[in-house]
Amino acid sequence: MDIVKRTVEFKPHSRNLFFHILTACNLRCRHCYINPEQHGTKTLDIATIKKWLRLFSLSGQPSTFKSVSDTNVIFLGGEPTLHPDLSQAIRDAKGLGYASITVDTNGYLFNDILDRVSPLEVDYFSFSLDGSTKEVNDAIRGQGCYDTCIKGMKEAVSRGFTISSIFTASRANIKDLPNMPPILKRLGVSRFFIQVIGIRGNPAKRNETDLQLRYEEWMEIVPETALHAAELGMYCTYPKVFLEAEESFSCAGLVAENYFVFPNGRVYTCPLCEDYPLHAYEIRDDLLEKRPPLTETELFELKIPEGCVMNRIFHPGNIEYDKEGNPVRKIACCMLKEELISR
Ligand code: SF4
Ligand code: SF4
Repeated sequence: MDIVKRTVEFKPHSRNLFFHILTACNLRCRHCYINPEQHGTKTLDIATIKKWLRLFSLSGQPSTFKSVSDTNVIFLGGEPTLHPDLSQAIRDAKGLGYASITVDTNGYLFNDILDRVSPLEVDYFSFSLDGSTKEVNDAIRGQGCYDTCIKGMKEAVSRGFTISSIFTASRANIKDLPNMPPILKRLGVSRFFIQVIGIRGNPAKRNETDLQLRYEEWMEIVPETALHAAELGMYCTYPKVFLEAEESFSCAGLVAENYFVFPNGRVYTCPLCEDYPLHAYEIRDDLLEKRPPLTETELFELKIPEGCVMNRIFHPGNIEYDKEGNPVRKIACCMLKEELISR
């Protein structure tokens, strides 16, 4: 089997709508990035969800050339299946012609969501699983979570849905990461996304910077695990995180279109800013408005030797310097991924 590995450049002809339709959740994960002070506690009603889906389906809102058929929508929360009208939202997105529809779930699959939508309407259910055993996963995500998530994954596959799995790597579970690919393969997972913990939301409040991985810890385990997953036939991605000297830096906030929409109307274009009122856009009276400076947009323009400006501001612990005070390596954009595909 041939494995193709490549860095996924930001795609100029696609945009992604990360749509948080509510912030409520039944779980209290240790690394949860939801911050009710910044994102609100509202559950959007279905009429508003439909209006906002329409808003991002229009060319020129705010893009000048992208169309809905170039736009992927990812429904998020909190836990999006807690929303009683998620199935209607999915159907509406499908009717509007979004390129793909994904639901990110903790696996509890509330409101009989699998009975209410079909594999023709949902491209992927993405399940968050942070360990290969109850012990590892439930220490991070809460008791009973592992069994429920595995049951949900099996149920989804048995009904013909395509499923992905998301693993958020931190010092609490990195040693367990190599155990994941065979388990996911047995469960019928087709895409495995390895993410790196962000120090925002809960970890930022608790100042848990020790959960962050050093370059050596990341490089020792993640690329090899991703290769194993690809060898087993799964599509696998992981964040690039660090750039070598010869690799060039670019900021997705400047060259890509990603919108992280929260129920209080805030729209960020960089996830690292989500703990601060730095959002570039705001939805007011169901219209998308660009906010005046200072927002994340102006910060993206700063050119610094460390690469990603938000990492420099919010996660300086990630950056290693040499004796002369120069960064040893640049920090990549958090949305730049390495992709492995088996052929
Ligand atoms: S399932 Fe997601 S939204 Fe819920 S607590 Fe965990 S990380 Fe937060
Ligand atoms: S993570 Fe850094 S490089 Fe990526 S969009 Fe945010 S500021 Fe730009």
